[in-house]
Parts: sequence; C-alpha cells; structure tokens
Amino acid sequence: MARYIGAVCRLCRRSGEKLMLKGDRCFTPKCAMEKRAKPPGPPPARRRRISDRGLQLREKQKARYTYGILERQFRRIFAQAERMSGITGENLVVLLERRLDNIVYRLGFGDSRSQARQIVCHGHILLNGRKTDIPSCLVKEGDTISWRESSTKSEYYKRLVKTIDAKMVPRWLSLDKSNLVGRVVSLPTPEEIEAKFEGKTIVEYYSR
Ligand code: SF4
Repeated sequence: MARYIGAVCRLCRRSGEKLMLKGDRCFTPKCAMEKRAKPPGPPPARRRRISDRGLQLREKQKARYTYGILERQFRRIFAQAERMSGITGENLVVLLERRLDNIVYRLGFGDSRSQARQIVCHGHILLNGRKTDIPSCLVKEGDTISWRESSTKSEYYKRLVKTIDAKMVPRWLSLDKSNLVGRVVSLPTPEEIEAKFEGKTIVEYYSR
C-alpha cells in the first residue's frame, strides 16, 4: 500500500502550521515549526499573494497530510463522500475520521497516525474480534477494537498499558483502559472532530 515516506516535518512547514504528524516530538522545542517555520526550499524572489485556488489546494493537502493519504486514494474518498447524502465536505471529514488507523490513533494506541497505521498493518489489531490489517477500513457504530492475543506479550503493549491512563479519548469513543479494548460509541459529528482543514474548501477545490 503506497504511502508518503519523505520527511513529514516538511509537510507542516509547507502547510504553514503544525499538523502534529510526529507524536510526542510535536510538543517539544525540537518541532521543526518551532525552530524554522518557513516553507522548505529557497526563499521566493518576491512575495506573492496566494490565489484562491492556492488556498483551496493548501486545505486539501493539509487533509491528506494529516491522515497520511496519497492523492489517488484521497480522490476516491472524496468521490465516496459525494455519493453519500448530506453535505459533501462534512461527509469527507467523517469518512477520514472513521479509518481504522485513525481510530487506533484516537484510542491512544499509537502516538501518531503513522505509528497507528504501522500497528494495524503489522496485524496487531482485531476489529470485532477479527484480525484486520487494512488501515483504510471504515469503522461503524458499535465496533470494538482490541489487540491480538499474541501482541499483548510485546514490550510495546506492556509499555502502553502503563501509559494509557494519561491519554484522552474523544467522546464518541470509549476505552477499557485495563484491557485496552476500544469501542465506537457513535459515529463522530464534524463538530466533534476539530479538523485542521475545511471540508467545504476541499469541495471547492475538486469542483473546478
Ligand atoms: Fe509538524 Fe510535529 Fe514535525 Fe512539528 S514535530 S513540524 S508538528 S510533524
């Protein structure tokens, strides 16, 4: 499965804001946005105003970077959001949030979405009791997310059990912290997601 493998801090610098792609490091002075908040590459010869199209592109890229999705897959998710009833921009935000790798991240099983994706890809996660190693799998209301029996013997899992108390879980998820079993209480609403991008602007980008 294709994914971006370049330097992720460049993506934040390109977007002009902290997208929190590196877990704990994002909260430290080592964060590249704290040290050098300018876009990567040589400085432009002259300052130019960003066009409306440029702003729309930036919103779309922020969404892609945040969830670690390449363009072709992102377009597919957008097409799915368009086919659903309701507001396309809101559907898009909810579809992105329902991805299994994102849920594993939101439950605190991984420090970043990329780490959560690795946990899923390596087959450590059970969705409703069945091993699921597809990060793009969409969860539904009532689904349970747990660890595979063999994975609970790993050092990573043992460390996670000790630190999970400090992690916050969104209201639409619940977590049994002693057994590390999560549950989707309800599907998130766009207001609950607090996305760093505007779904409406992404719709405008693809509408041209
Ligand atoms: Fe972005 Fe985190 Fe890197 Fe800072 S440390 S630039 S927030 S990915």
